Amino acid sequence: MIIIMRPQVTEAEIQGVETKLKSLGLKANISRGVERTIIGAIGDERKLNKETFLALPGVDNVMRVVKPYKIVAREWHQEDTIVDIKGIPIGGNTIQIIAGPCSVETQEQMDSAAKNIAKVGCRLMRGGAFKPRTSPYSFQGKGLEGLKIFRQAASKYNLPIVTELMDVRYLDDFLKQGVEVIQIGTRNMQNFDLLKEVGKTHIPVILKRGLCATISEWLMSAEYIAAGGNHNIILCERGIRSFETAYRNVLDVTAIPVLKKETHLPVIVDPSHSGGKAYLVPALAKAAIAAGADGLLIEMHPTPCDAWCDADQALTPDELEKLMPELRAITQAVGRDM
Ligand code: PEP
Ligand code: MN
Repeated sequence: MIIIMRPQVTEAEIQGVETKLKSLGLKANISRGVERTIIGAIGDERKLNKETFLALPGVDNVMRVVKPYKIVAREWHQEDTIVDIKGIPIGGNTIQIIAGPCSVETQEQMDSAAKNIAKVGCRLMRGGAFKPRTSPYSFQGKGLEGLKIFRQAASKYNLPIVTELMDVRYLDDFLKQGVEVIQIGTRNMQNFDLLKEVGKTHIPVILKRGLCATISEWLMSAEYIAAGGNHNIILCERGIRSFETAYRNVLDVTAIPVLKKETHLPVIVDPSHSGGKAYLVPALAKAAIAAGADGLLIEMHPTPCDAWCDADQALTPDELEKLMPELRAITQAVGRDM
């Protein structure tokens, strides 16, 4: 941390900063320039609060030198992390397409979805049994019964399941059902107690970006999971809020290369919640792969017009089937495989 003092700083004020740093277990490197005095804090600055120093007399500005996250930072771990899901890699050279309905509805719906997903060559299946809905009067998900339906449908085709955990009280049920990938949704990206609990497991986690979260905040949330010992984290960009009303959210394509620079964790993209319309999904999916995403999380429903949730953004099985070779072509163009 670098502490920049005000122009007319007094010796007592400089001493005040040094004393504070010492009391926190750090050393001060005082550099007296012609116009300004700058104090470098030597030691682990992650423990320091910027505000503590900004509040001291004579301090003009405080700048961090190191990133606030550590385990997830590329500067601490150069090689790309590959998360292994029952032998299926996420990260590395192969791009994975995870598809499935927004929510688990019935056994027939999930059986039909699983059949189509396996047929088009996707190797993982998504589906929400617990749904975070804006209105308390909307369908809230089938809950534990939904998990069982999902498991039964997916196991027939050997598809590992990706499903959202909203409440830590259901973590044991997720473990009992052998959920292969826990999704932490947008609205829970900063539910720190939930992040700490999934951090104690070793189950792969898809951490979606908060609706209004900066990349740094998102990586700090990933750090919460990693700090508990679970390094099997996959980041999922799913669109962020903007002033535009023509589509649901704005897919932040720029976040993909930024994340690739900042972190070694795999990055996937959800083109369905980004645009919120089925017709937007192919374009956003292709853009994501071209920009370096390691996979996609796509909503597909056997009959979208009957979907209990997010009907207008779900692809039909035929639309997904048509999209797959197009995605494969982009994948090959960027030197990867699918
Ligand atoms: C979902 O994937 O079904 C979902 C609710 O996503 P998000 O948390 O991105 O809104
Ligand atoms: Mn959805």
